[in-house]
Amino acid sequence: MKNTISLIVLLFFVTISTIAQETYLHCGLFIDGVADKPQKEVTIIVEGKKIKSVEKGYKKVPEKAELIDLKAHTVMPGLMDMHVHLEGETSKKRYEESFRMNKADVALRATQYCKTTLMAGFTTVRDLGGSGVNVSLQSAIDRGYILGPRIYTAEKAIGTTGGHADPTNGLRKDLMGDPGPNEGVINGPEDARKAVRQRYKNGADLIKITATGGVLSVAKDGQGPQFTDEELEAIVSTAKDYGMITAAHAHGDEGMRRAVKAGITSIEHGTLMSEATMDLMIKKGTWLVSTITAGRSVADSAKIAGYYPEIIVPKALEIGPKIQTTFGKAYKRGVKIAFGTDAGVFKHGKNALEFQYMVEAGMPAMETIQSATMSAAKLLGIEEKLGSLEAGKLADIVAVSGNPLEDITVMMKVDFVMKGGEVFKE
Ligand SMILES: [Zn+2]
Repeated sequence: MKNTISLIVLLFFVTISTIAQETYLHCGLFIDGVADKPQKEVTIIVEGKKIKSVEKGYKKVPEKAELIDLKAHTVMPGLMDMHVHLEGETSKKRYEESFRMNKADVALRATQYCKTTLMAGFTTVRDLGGSGVNVSLQSAIDRGYILGPRIYTAEKAIGTTGGHADPTNGLRKDLMGDPGPNEGVINGPEDARKAVRQRYKNGADLIKITATGGVLSVAKDGQGPQFTDEELEAIVSTAKDYGMITAAHAHGDEGMRRAVKAGITSIEHGTLMSEATMDLMIKKGTWLVSTITAGRSVADSAKIAGYYPEIIVPKALEIGPKIQTTFGKAYKRGVKIAFGTDAGVFKHGKNALEFQYMVEAGMPAMETIQSATMSAAKLLGIEEKLGSLEAGKLADIVAVSGNPLEDITVMMKVDFVMKGGEVFKE
């Protein structure tokens, strides 16, 4: 009996001490993800997974609490990339991999990409399409089996027959088969509804469609519309019924206009967007996720002989470089912007290049950071728990040495990463 009581008492104190474990972060420069101006000398107090309070000045650290000294750093919310593909990474061999690699191979290799992404300061990402391994990566990270960002995943993207997300494009006839809604290929509104519901059942958090042709698919057209209005309406309304947001890959204007009209949550790339479509997006509150880095890097890779299959080269050279200019115009016109890179199309971990390209295109540095924090959280509908450094939010906190408002390239050098109150890089 005595032993039992002392065990209970011991457990009680162990529990109390873990709960009460506080961490004080002394921040030299502090960007909260919302305010237009940074603050100097701020203390963030983290308790458990959450931010307990944010206070002016360097607060004295109680004996039991831990101090993390970031006085020489700029501290900001964990960065959020709204367009990545964690299952793979660009290489010359990319197109033959699907014949050689089993899902377990894909998953085990992807553990590196997840870790690299987190260490680059990206604590939350949207995975906009893979084979379904992305759902397993999400759960492995959530359970602590592997290191990586919080993932919101689209599972496998939805396309049309011969469209950008048809997984059998370019194969010989006997391998091609006739993929359907289960594989993410639809023809008609009934298929569209089934494909959305199937994604939900498979564990997707959101829906990704390929509204127009794309650069890296083995198909001729890189920009024509690929869904009818009826199909788009079916996708968006079914996704809403199941509590999911929708993202549309789109290069050509007609395909993105149709998707915006149907009520899609975000347009990805937006390469050849007309001013009329920009205005429609402003009216409907549609987000633009530009992925300038992907556009530039595919154009660069296309210049290396043999890097891509022949059919891809002219598309990459034509479409790739246009994304940045369109981004600049859309930003100036007032389209809502959320940060996204298409990492995987270029090397994982280089996501922060996008900040430089956004600044180059005319967006102020502070707004680029907000696009990767509070705006991204709003796009995902999780602004109550992430996106800014405020009391009550999850403690996703990163720090860079130097001042990104003076030199945006320092975003490439993240020295400190905390996710959910746990330090992953110091
Ligand atoms: Zn993509």
